[in-house]
Amino acid sequence: PVVTRIAPSPTGTMHIGTARTALFNWLFARRHGGQFLLRIEDTDRARSTPEATQTILNGLKWLGLDHDGAPVSQFEQAPRHAEVAHQMLAQGSAYKCFSTQHEIEAFRETAREAGTSTLFQSPWRDTDPEEHPDAPFVIRLKAPRKGTTIINDAVQGDVTFRNDQLDDMVLLRSDGTPTYMLAVVVDDHDMGITHVIRGDDHLNNAARQAQIFAAMGWDQPVWAHIPLIHGADGKKLSKRHGATGVEEYAAMGFPAQALRNYLTRLGWAHGDDEFFTDAQAVEWFDLEGIGRAPARLDLKKLENLSGQHLSVMDDDTILAAVQDWAARAGEPPIDAARLLPAIGIVKEASRTLPQIVERARFALIDRPITPDEKAMKTLDTVSRGILNELTPHLQNASWDRDAMEGVIGDLAQSKGLGLGKLAAPLRAALAGRTATPSVFDMMLVLGRDETLARLTDAVG
Ligand code: GLU
Repeated sequence: PVVTRIAPSPTGTMHIGTARTALFNWLFARRHGGQFLLRIEDTDRARSTPEATQTILNGLKWLGLDHDGAPVSQFEQAPRHAEVAHQMLAQGSAYKCFSTQHEIEAFRETAREAGTSTLFQSPWRDTDPEEHPDAPFVIRLKAPRKGTTIINDAVQGDVTFRNDQLDDMVLLRSDGTPTYMLAVVVDDHDMGITHVIRGDDHLNNAARQAQIFAAMGWDQPVWAHIPLIHGADGKKLSKRHGATGVEEYAAMGFPAQALRNYLTRLGWAHGDDEFFTDAQAVEWFDLEGIGRAPARLDLKKLENLSGQHLSVMDDDTILAAVQDWAARAGEPPIDAARLLPAIGIVKEASRTLPQIVERARFALIDRPITPDEKAMKTLDTVSRGILNELTPHLQNASWDRDAMEGVIGDLAQSKGLGLGKLAAPLRAALAGRTATPSVFDMMLVLGRDETLARLTDAVG
């Protein structure tokens, strides 16, 4: 069975790269009917905060990436990490090193002067425990000195590391706390992780982690190191490029399914398919489709996809997403009863949730409507006269599109005017602006009473 995980460090926002890594792990687990686990790498006690953990949980929840089981705290596993270090010690695959920081520095200095490798080689590696001093020590891995460590990476292919370039890494510090390398390996093993899918900035760590797996005689997971996300200029994504936190994208008003679709495509491809549903993504996702080149974040593409998703999402789902967006963006709550009937006529032309609200503004405002400057101009004496004439016709027409088109078309014709000439003051009267959804759509959403009341206001 497939078991994947993400292992974010809770030190700030939830980076969009972390979100994509989470998404890939989630898709892969769901595709194979496996599990997607969450481990919070909170061993850096100074930098890890409960708020940052909450941000990660919220980000995953908003993105719809449900994880299996309770989150694992890496810090809480520290005794287990120490136990494994001591097990390696007992097996002879690790050793106690009593070298002081000062001695290590001196070693490096001498090596630099002699032009030899500055990788620290502990004099304690092959000593007799009987002769060990009663002094503080670290536990180091007795790493192979010769040969190579090869990572068979599902994305990068075989990546070879020379063992003479990897030192005997510290597993347990002198205060008994585990190092990051040891903690990750023990946790991944204990959690039964079968596939480690993460950013390729961890590829070098994989070599070291593979050595620990080997020393313990544990099976390595399948490695899949994915290229990082870059900005439009091809440089590693940073604040300089704009939004990097998932929360920021939520506050910009992209529906979660659109961001999921976009992030899935960011570094992974299924033929030429750009737009797809969650079900399709889960059905198609594989490690073979992950590219080796860094993907570039492209806001325009995200907006396009977002627009496509909005046009096919059902109105209730959009309503819920709008309310969620409004809360995040600090907007006042939106009157659901007024917004809902308007969603169907504005969603096709909208690319974000705030655009939905903007286009549906006509349905959210109260009478009397204050027309903006441009709208005011279209409501001149002549136009008001025409609207005045139109009112009784609308009063008697049945309230459907055909009847309205008939009534308004007839009036325009009798005045020798194009339909556009009539539509402009109608928009102004109904919405107080010149750019609005179609006049007939608005009238249908507003209903007869509200429409006539707005027309009467404008005429009066
Ligand atoms: N804590 C690491 C990070 O946030 C992830 C380590 C891993 O996935 O193995 O980058």
